[in-house]
Amino acid sequence: MKNFTYYRPTTVEQAVSLLGKEWGKAEMLAGGTDLLDLQKEYVARPDAVVSLGSLGSLGGIHVGEKQPPVITIGAGTKLSEIAADATLKQYCSALTTAAGEVGGPQIRNMGTLGGNLCQRNRCWYFRDEKVVCLLKGSDKCYALDGENRYHAVFTKGHKCVIVNPSTLAPALIALGATAEIQGPAGKKRTVKLADFFQAPASATEREHVLAPNEILLSVKIEAQAGGKSASYEVRQKQSYDWPLVQAAVAFTLKGDQVSGVKIVLGHVAPTPVVASDAASKIEGKAITEETAQAAGEAAALGANPLSQNAYKVKLIAVAVKRALLTAAGAKKYWEV
Ligand SMILES: Cc1cc2nc3c(=O)[nH]c(=O)nc-3n(C[C@H](O)[C@H](O)[C@H](O)COP(=O)(O)OP(=O)(O)OC[C@H]3O[C@@H](n4cnc5c(N)ncnc54)[C@H](O)[C@@H]3O)c2cc1C
Ligand code: SF4
Repeated sequence: MKNFTYYRPTTVEQAVSLLGKEWGKAEMLAGGTDLLDLQKEYVARPDAVVSLGSLGSLGGIHVGEKQPPVITIGAGTKLSEIAADATLKQYCSALTTAAGEVGGPQIRNMGTLGGNLCQRNRCWYFRDEKVVCLLKGSDKCYALDGENRYHAVFTKGHKCVIVNPSTLAPALIALGATAEIQGPAGKKRTVKLADFFQAPASATEREHVLAPNEILLSVKIEAQAGGKSASYEVRQKQSYDWPLVQAAVAFTLKGDQVSGVKIVLGHVAPTPVVASDAASKIEGKAITEETAQAAGEAAALGANPLSQNAYKVKLIAVAVKRALLTAAGAKKYWEV
């Protein structure tokens, strides 16, 4: 690991002032489950590491008084706390399921919401110190005609074919969450989680839209009366790995009819994919094996897989169908 100066600020303003205007020179440290890996692999070589661990304001889950409540989750909240929270389980089960399936207990006890949303991608070329691809300053993507079985299947228009690695992201987007961000001079801005991610194409871009000197403070969800949600991950193994494909869904149920349907796919593109056409297929209908299957098939339309990952296209339909049936309480495929 390259030597660095370690800072432990006690206010967000101090933390922001220690961050630079360029990516890579200073890095924020939350639980460290991703950053330390990257440093040990010489993929991240910051001169300064700015710990967020003493910023008390970043932690905790706050439930507002209104019914149904507005729930604010601090960026420093551990994934294990999110997975176990009773109010989130009641109103946002897509999120608690996704948080409960991340890695293993050690990762969930150290990893934070902010770190999960801002973690770097898992492309094995990117993670190899010796490979200088597009995201490290060259003009070549090695995955395009290389080992790409875990890469994107929605690839049109993307020079870099990573998949966004966060499984909390599709759940939060389906739940209509917003992110609060703070930058220099105390300036705050709010961004919809649906607009928080971007497809990076160079070393000067990250997988999200934060500037190098902006900190994610918290994420807010307005719970919905009658709101139902679920996240379903197709995985090679039950723990300690990322899913192959994920679907997160949310909707309101009145009688047996659904409205306000959101379907969001994870691990199929450089950003989470909002499958609006698939959602409109099921809007106003009852969720049955048939309607859920049709929505799943619609969600997979437009996929343009690489040489080794066409198998993921079929998994999209499976994940969407199972997430919809789970959220509607019609069938339980998975329980954490
Ligand atoms: C074996 C294994 C399996 C995993 N499986 C999954 C999985 O299935 N699904 C999944 O989603 N993830 C998975 N992960 C990733 C894991 O969720 C992340 O490593 C973790 O959430 C990162 O959180 P952290 O607090 O440790 O972040 P850190 O490692 O401290 O930081 C990660 C990045 O986020 C930035 N950052 C942190 N906090 C903020 C903030 N408040 N504002 C701005 N930037 C910030 C840091 O600067 C850094 O770039 C897995 C990890 C491992 C090791
Ligand atoms: S997919 Fe992206 S990170 Fe991976 S080799 Fe290609 S450019 Fe690099």
